Order: sequence, then C-alpha cells, then structure tokens
Amino acid sequence: MQKSGNTCRAMVENGRPVIINDKWCKGCDICVSFCPKNVLERPEGGKARVARAEDCTRCGICEIMCPDLAIQVVPANDKKKEISGTQGGSVDAK
Ligand code: SF4
Ligand code: SF4
Repeated sequence: MQKSGNTCRAMVENGRPVIINDKWCKGCDICVSFCPKNVLERPEGGKARVARAEDCTRCGICEIMCPDLAIQVVPANDKKKEISGTQGGSVDAK
C-alpha cells in the first residue's frame, strides 16, 4: 500500500490520528455513526473523511467497526505516519 496526495496542514499540526482508504471505503457511514467524538463525516454520495482530527482520541472504534477494513488508527507515537498523510487523512491503495 502506498500513500499519495497533499499533506493537510491541520493534520500535521495536530497529528494524523486516522487514515481512511478511499478505494476501500464504500461510504456506508458506520464509522461516522459510531465515532464518539464526531471526528468523521461523509459528504452525500462520498467517502468518509476526517473532519475534526483534533477531537480524535484514537479509541479505535472506527477501525473495529468498518466492515471493509478501510480505516486505520495511527498509534500516537507513530510520527512518521502522522506527518506523511494526505488531505482528510485518506490513503490510496495500490
Ligand atoms: S465504515 Fe468503512 S466503509 Fe463505511 S464509511 Fe466508514 S470507512 Fe467507509
Ligand atoms: S479513533 Fe475513535 S475518536 Fe478517532 S475517529 Fe475513530 S472512532 Fe472517532
């Protein structure tokens, strides 16, 4: 799997807690519904995305609940993954 895209400044400043694989996400809204901190959102007809990264507690619920394994919660001490993210915390699967 290879990451691509633009680095989001807010994500770099606050750490990138969650990676969403746009190619695997089917837009079912389960992660959005279960996130206790309202971190995630999904535009109508679109894919899930990180909207409020600063509120994420890295609880892991979204990763557990996603039926398509499209979300990965980045460990708090994994600075390399945190700063190499893309807009909205998404990642392309290749
Ligand atoms: S639960 Fe998974 S497949 Fe469903 S919207 Fe969230 S990331 Fe996408
Ligand atoms: S790790 Fe927890 S707080 Fe962060 S986006 Fe996922 S469900 Fe929400």
